[in-house]
Amino acid sequence: MNVREITAKSILSRSAIFDYVINPYVGCQYNCNYCYARFMKRFTGHREPWGEFLDIKINAPELLAREIVRKSPGRVWISGVCDPYQPVEMKYEITRKCLEILVNQNWPFTIQTKSNLLLRDIELLSINDNIEAGLTITTADEKIKSIFEPSAPSIRDRITALEQLHDRGIKTYAMIAPMLPGVEDLASLLENKIDYILIDRMNYHHADWIYKKYNLQYTLSYNYIFKQSRRLADAFTAQGIKCQVVF
Ligand code: SF4
Repeated sequence: MNVREITAKSILSRSAIFDYVINPYVGCQYNCNYCYARFMKRFTGHREPWGEFLDIKINAPELLAREIVRKSPGRVWISGVCDPYQPVEMKYEITRKCLEILVNQNWPFTIQTKSNLLLRDIELLSINDNIEAGLTITTADEKIKSIFEPSAPSIRDRITALEQLHDRGIKTYAMIAPMLPGVEDLASLLENKIDYILIDRMNYHHADWIYKKYNLQYTLSYNYIFKQSRRLADAFTAQGIKCQVVF
């Protein structure tokens, strides 16, 4: 992977999903084969395929410290088109330094990651109650995870992270997006570990060849996905967990 440090021009961007979004990195070491963010490549100047480059916005904390005092407060999404806790974060701590600034300014934020590395920052995340921490969990089946997300942390690690965050009183959610095969056990696995759940079909067809290779095409049909998400939604609702399904 081509990893380089870059100087960004801005960091606190307007978002259609939350008020703002921060992407501390360009590119993602997890390289999930369905990745919806691969469209970003055309804005980067990179010639390598998506998943084979990573730019580290080395000045992100300095930019954020300047930009945050000029903008009106709003909820910040971390992150939209990269994972804020991908392995390189262990060394660079760009996400952590940005969180420290958000906490100091008392801005609300929502983390979204596939990594249990966010537990490193659990003290920061538990400082006030306007912070949410979410783990993307696309299946309960580690074999399916290994096919579609070979470089991402295990499902077990993600669920354990949610449990530890929830036990600390941090508001937690799980995002099932895209909904991969093998989600059936998620409702029981996530019981008492989350405050709410989002289920999104989010099928961008980048991984269609993998479904074909492993004879999983039947799981792409609208009927299959609809039934699976309905079953899951009912199971979560029965546990008293707020569930939002997006199609
Ligand atoms: S973790 Fe998210 S941003 Fe990173 S490769 Fe996977 S889907 Fe893409």
